[in-house]
Amino acid sequence: MHISRKEFLGTALASAGSMAAGAGRQAEPKGSARKGGRMKWEVRRLDLKHAWTISRNSSTFKENVFVSLSSGGTEGVGEAAPNVRYQETPASTTAFLEKARPLVEQSDWWQFQDLMLRVHALEEGQTAAKAAIDIALLDWVGKKLGIPLYRFWGLDPAKVPVTTMSIGIDTPEIMQQKVAEAEAFPVLKIKLGTPDDRRNMEAIRRVTRKPLRVDANEGWKTREQALENIDWLAGQGVEFVEQPMPSSMLEDIRWLKERSRLPLVADESVRKAADIPQLAAAFHGINIKLMKAGGPQEALRMVQMARALGMKIMLGCMVETSVAIAAAVHMAPLVDWLDLDGNLLIARDLFTGLTLRQGRWILPDSSGLGVHPV
Ligand code: MG
Repeated sequence: MHISRKEFLGTALASAGSMAAGAGRQAEPKGSARKGGRMKWEVRRLDLKHAWTISRNSSTFKENVFVSLSSGGTEGVGEAAPNVRYQETPASTTAFLEKARPLVEQSDWWQFQDLMLRVHALEEGQTAAKAAIDIALLDWVGKKLGIPLYRFWGLDPAKVPVTTMSIGIDTPEIMQQKVAEAEAFPVLKIKLGTPDDRRNMEAIRRVTRKPLRVDANEGWKTREQALENIDWLAGQGVEFVEQPMPSSMLEDIRWLKERSRLPLVADESVRKAADIPQLAAAFHGINIKLMKAGGPQEALRMVQMARALGMKIMLGCMVETSVAIAAAVHMAPLVDWLDLDGNLLIARDLFTGLTLRQGRWILPDSSGLGVHPV
């Protein structure tokens, strides 16, 4: 069901107002609680500041799907950033939401763990849609309890690591301009994975001495080429390399790990907790994204699995507004590296609440996600 922007944002604002007034801060008393509630969604176009180019594609705008869960005078909001790499579009996302609607609307939202396990079981994939439901559920629960999500999870907001700002692939001149625009960030993530890699890195090194992280987005196609590139990057002040080769080439990546001078971090190779054990021999760390995992609850299982295997953890994102970025920032005290810049790539964020100070996200001290429509 599509609803107008005014109606969607209007209900979100009404909810924010009721929270400010202190309404709905306690669990609903037994007997009066209505099971479930209403789920709505809408597709919104997000124009980007710059054309966004990585090794496999380029775009000037994204269409994300925003989910609203309302019950007992409280609204939780969530966001899906569908990704073609994972066979997702706005249409496939809304189709999944329609499929999940009866289950979500008729379930007890306080049993959010059980509900999300059942949402995951509806079908394989469509994890962006699942993430939107999970984020909205947790926002609703946090608002009902009157506490921020990081507090619900027992985390210290002072332990949020600095985030990198990503520099997409472009002409050397525009990549240099993007580096200048990212002046406030102490560490940058550079997108590589094309035949122009050395030219682009040399252009960036002419304008900054900051530590750099590299994401090849599966762009290097042979292990020898990947090893040669990594050897060269190790002399360029690079901290680690993300997804050097295609996820289908796991044996080659394992070969690469035995020889690499830089840590290797899995991104496209990992989506959910069950993927992680087989990756431990090929990568030093994993990049968790809420959209790949299907929401914060699966992302937390991934954190536990990776830690048990002694792996490093990065928390990343797609192009997302402050809704999905905030959900990730609330769990960021659990991870080593942060790459949460998706809302900064958008010309006009639709939500507000997060503050960025010298590359570090400051969480709002308000309930749930702590974000509100602009
Ligand atoms: Mg990546």
